[in-house]
Amino acid sequence: MRAVPEHFARRHPADLQAKMEAASRPVRCILNRTLLGHETSEADGVTLFKATGADKDAVFATADEMRRQTNGDRVTFVVNRNINFTNICYMGCRFCGFAKRAEEEGAEWLSPGQIAARAQVAWDRGGTEVCVQGGLHPNLPGTYYRDIVLAIKAVLPDMHVHGFSPFEVWYGAAKSKLGYREFLTDLRDCGLGSMPGTAAEILDTEVRKKLTKNKLSTEKWVEIICTAHDVGLPTSATIMYGHVDAPEHWAAHIALLRDVQRDTGGFTELVPLSFVHTESPLYAQAPGQVRPGPTEDEVYLMHAVSRIMLNGFIDNIQVSWTKLGAERARQMLAHGANDMGGTLMNESISRAAGSRHGQEITAREFCDIIRSAGRVPVRRNTVYDTIEVFENHDPEEFAPLVARQNADPCDFMKMFPVAE
Ligand code: SF4
Repeated sequence: MRAVPEHFARRHPADLQAKMEAASRPVRCILNRTLLGHETSEADGVTLFKATGADKDAVFATADEMRRQTNGDRVTFVVNRNINFTNICYMGCRFCGFAKRAEEEGAEWLSPGQIAARAQVAWDRGGTEVCVQGGLHPNLPGTYYRDIVLAIKAVLPDMHVHGFSPFEVWYGAAKSKLGYREFLTDLRDCGLGSMPGTAAEILDTEVRKKLTKNKLSTEKWVEIICTAHDVGLPTSATIMYGHVDAPEHWAAHIALLRDVQRDTGGFTELVPLSFVHTESPLYAQAPGQVRPGPTEDEVYLMHAVSRIMLNGFIDNIQVSWTKLGAERARQMLAHGANDMGGTLMNESISRAAGSRHGQEITAREFCDIIRSAGRVPVRRNTVYDTIEVFENHDPEEFAPLVARQNADPCDFMKMFPVAE
């Protein structure tokens, strides 16, 4: 039986049509409805996350078509620097390989002046954004967050400060004895430009109890994000998957993000973050009950189903090259993703969790990777305005900020011939 509508064949590539015809009737119905502009329900999202064989191929082809319709052939990236100003944290999230006690070897703490100096280096290398996040240091005053923003803005008024997870906002507001609205409004007035929507993990109470002891509840995460959007601070959205979770949690999480976006319009992108188990206490303490990250198919499906469920709500699906590595990140561009994220310069959170994919991909390298996928590289700012399209030229070349000692994240590019 052929359920693909006639007009669909005119509107969509033959490859997609062939994959739809090979899919099972239930999956084909869900995907056809989605392509016709209907919202994909949470229950249908679960079905898509569980797709195998020909059904899975149809999900990938549909996500790729939706990416093409929304973003065309452009793939974006931002030149930014990660500044993790402290790794001292006593919150004890069980998945976290980043946090250290103050007396532990490798514990770090940066002053606002040191943070501003790092931002200056990023600016001198063409950076337009610093992404500032840290652990929840027990002695950190609530005013530290505003001090950081003010210090950066004093020397670099045009640098976009993308900073502070909802967990940090929860902590800083409590330490300052302020409500979220007052705390966020003050940060905005100091010069904060946007926030990372990290600390979301999986927005489900039972899963959060296992991951974070539910210290920042789903309700608090949503409240802080909605308040940020309301005071004019856009945020990213994230999901961390592949540990004690299941497709039902993923679909519910993405449906909740969609509901928030329907209300506020404040999310700029979704960034799926695959769980890195290597240095995670969660995995070390209960390896039989915790998965060592998502399977390869689950990584593809996460990007593809996110694109499908968020169609018309969140236009940008960002791939995390620090979690997946540059080669797999490139593969996600054919599975619904349209953004490569940032150059980062100094990645340390994924590295502390055991990821071995390097600290920086330069703008020049991003362009090579994106072109090798048949797409057009575009440098953007934090909120997805175009800065430069690299159709026939390359960005200025900078050596990586931190020397690459062992592995080059772009080694795999050697398999692609260089055009004369
Ligand atoms: S995830 Fe963040 S809040 Fe939790 S322990 Fe690690 S650094 Fe602390």
